[in-house]
Formats: sequence, structure tokens, C-alpha cells
Amino acid sequence: MRDLYITNTLSRQKELFKPINPGLVGLYVCGPTVYGDAHLGHARPAITYDVFVKLLRAIGYKVRYVRNITDVGHLEHDADEGEDKIAKKARLEQLEPMEVVQEYTERYHAAMRELNVAPPSIEPRASGHIIEQMAVVRKILDAGYAYESNGSIYFDVEKYNKDHKYGILSGRNLEDTLEGTRNLDGQSDKRAPFDFALWKKASPEHIMHWPSEWSEGFPGWHLECSAMSEKYLGKEFDIHGGGMDLMFPHHECEIAQNTASRGTSGVHYWMHNNMITINGKKMGKSLGNYITLFDLFSGNNNVLSQAYSPMTIRFFILQAHYRSTLDFSNEALQAAEKGLAKMLQAAKDLKSLQAKGQKNEEVAQIYEKCYEALCDDLNTPIALSHIFDAVRIINSVKGGQMQICADDLAILNKIFDEILFGILGIKDEAASEGKSAAVIDGLMKMVLAERAEAKASKNWAKSDEIRDKLSALGITVKDGKDGAEWSI
Ligand code: ZN
Repeated sequence: MRDLYITNTLSRQKELFKPINPGLVGLYVCGPTVYGDAHLGHARPAITYDVFVKLLRAIGYKVRYVRNITDVGHLEHDADEGEDKIAKKARLEQLEPMEVVQEYTERYHAAMRELNVAPPSIEPRASGHIIEQMAVVRKILDAGYAYESNGSIYFDVEKYNKDHKYGILSGRNLEDTLEGTRNLDGQSDKRAPFDFALWKKASPEHIMHWPSEWSEGFPGWHLECSAMSEKYLGKEFDIHGGGMDLMFPHHECEIAQNTASRGTSGVHYWMHNNMITINGKKMGKSLGNYITLFDLFSGNNNVLSQAYSPMTIRFFILQAHYRSTLDFSNEALQAAEKGLAKMLQAAKDLKSLQAKGQKNEEVAQIYEKCYEALCDDLNTPIALSHIFDAVRIINSVKGGQMQICADDLAILNKIFDEILFGILGIKDEAASEGKSAAVIDGLMKMVLAERAEAKASKNWAKSDEIRDKLSALGITVKDGKDGAEWSI
């Protein structure tokens, strides 16, 4: 097994990864809040941890990858209305809240499939783990680090801070956290502004709520990740990931909840991906530069000068190290599109190269360097630059300036199949579309041959049945002189 180094946010250092149980690595990543359509910001963590899991598996680890779905309305209220976002949409559109959640979850999954992001091993939903969350609240209350106030339960940050240190992940102290804390309506039940809700009593207009020993209410947002990571990965597990924006307060609160309820902070390595900016600015609805993933795929957004394929977006994200900021612009995405096309063309050309000549040491070195880069804190831009070296060699061989032996051809194939298409998860969209079309074509020939056979034996019921079933799928069959033709 190769040595893998990752930057641990907790120690602020690059550390050699040592799993608790080398037989099964536990990874928890904060997943999407399904209150709206998946946007550009969702793509980065999804792709980063997808590559990370693929790398772990490629170097020999088994991984249990848990990525949650936040589907319970939490305390981030709509600023204008003081109303939960899911609840508001549900009320306006007369939907059951779970219908809203279901719709956006499906759309998130569809966007992930487009981006070639593999599903996690377990995708738990917060709404499906209310009992586990209540159990954590009970433990924190019993340990004396929480208090009840008007049916809501709050975490007592000051008391916790005396016994343990609050802020170990973000490096903030209690005074720092006071800054920027607003005293929002309905939070006046708290003893101190930095206390956070573990359980919130539901107001009458709040439509997602559950009975509990304290009140009819709903769990605080930070709680779900403590409860679900423990349930599926145990009291202590290897790696917790997420976007840098979640480091404080979300992950800081998770550490406090874990320590208060189970006596350990729970996580050995914290990994945070940096954010995507748009033309140098933070993305936000109020800034008018909000881009959903489907906008990107269709080009249907004023910020965009064209549509970008999912693989262009994936390639663009991998061209930056996950810990650096990444600025989105049409120019940058167009450059990524060109770079990707060059790489995919080389992958195609590679298939037709003839083996001839001497061994070239550089080829094996490129393969090795790709792994070295990826195992050095997931350095995808460096890995891609090495793959571009392989592209250069392929182009030279194709152009006749260089020869390549069979061994080196095999290694070049590994660089593409194992690293670019495998770990980095790039796929040739045009080729896979072509493949699907060929498969459909073949299937249609089979079906129509069967129908022709039914007709030949005057089995009209069967031939009509086949035609009707195809019609139900949106496929029209027209009988002509040279047999049947079909169209979608
Ligand atoms: Zn989380």
C-alpha cells in the first residue's frame, strides 16, 4: 500500500494517513442541503471526495463512505420571513415537505450522475434519524452540557469550554465567536449568544416536527452529522470532510457534541475543500451570480456565455488543488474545455499507436508521478500536468518524431484507464453517448426482428403488442418496403 498524506485541518499539517482499522476506512462527508437545486458550489466537495475515495480504493483500502442528505429544515431561516426554506416552498406550492425534499434529492442525484460522481456507500437522511439525534441530545443533557429553555435544548458552550476547549478546529475562541453573532428572533431562549440549538421547539407555522420528551420540535442542524457518523462509522472514525464554510460553526459544533455525548471528538483527520468564487466574488442569489449545475449543463444563465459539459466542469475543478480557492469564469472554463479535449483526443490516438522501438524511461516515471501527486494531499492539478506529459509523448509518436515499445504502450494505457478515467473519474462523454446509441440501435434491431417474425407467422396480436409497448416508450415504428423503421 502506498503512503498517503492528507492535510489535517485539526493539526494544520500534512500528515501520513494511518487508518484506525486498515481493513476498512471510515469517511464521513457533509452532503447537500436539499432545499433547492444543486449549484456550482455542490460540485466541488462531491467531486473532491469522489476522487479521494477512488484513490483510497485504488491504493488498496476498503472504504465506507457516508454522505448525508440534510432534509430537515434547520435554523437557517429565510431572512425576510423567519420561516424555514423547505416549509416555505411547501406552503407556497401546497406540497408535503417531503415532496420538496424528494424532488431536490432526485435532481441532486441526477446532477451527480452527470458529473460522474459515484454514490456514497451510505446516504443517510437527517429526517430518517430523529431517534438517534434525540438520543444524542439526551446524552449531552445527562452529561451536563446542555440546558432546556421553553421546550428547546441548547448546548452550553461556556461550560463546555471550561472543561474542554471549544474552537480547536477553527482556532477561534469564545470572544471571536461573539463577533458577528446576531441575536435573531426566537433565539432569545439562549443563555449566551454562542450557544447553539440541539433541539428546537417548533413554532405553529413550522411544518416539519416530531414529538420528543421536551417539545414537539425538530433537531438543530449540527446534530445530524454527530448522530449519523456515530451510527454508521462508530464513536471514532478516520476522516471527516466537507467544505471550508462548514468548519465553523458546523464542524466545531460537531466536535463539541461528540465530546460531550461520547467522550471523544470522534474524528482523526478533518479535510476541508476550499470554495468556488465567480469572477472573484462569492456566489449568492443576492449577488445575481447564482449558477445551478443544470444551468451550467444547458448554458441557460446570464453569467454563462455557453453551455459547459459536466466533464468540463469536473476537469476544471480537478485543475485546482482542493484546498485552494477556484475562480469560475467563462474564460477559465473554456480553457478547461480545450485541455480536456486535448487529453481525450490523445486517449483515442493511443489506441491506434503501433509498438516499435526502445523503452522510454519517462513513461513509467509519469505513471509513478501521477500516484505520488495524488497521494500527496490529493494534488490533482499536478497529476493532470503529468498526464499532459503523456499526451505530449502520444502526440510525438503519432507525429512520427518518436517511437514507443509495447511495454510503454501498456503503461500509457494504464495512465489513462487507471488514473484519468479511473481515479480522476473523467469520461469521454461523446464516446459514451455514441456507445449508448449503438446499444439502443442493437436492441431495436432485436425487437423489430422479433416483431417481423410474429408478422411472418401471422401472429398479429404479438406484433401489435410489440408496437404498442414501443409506442408507450415514445418509440414510433413505421412499416416500409425494406422492413420497419423506428424513431424516438
Ligand atoms: Zn455535517
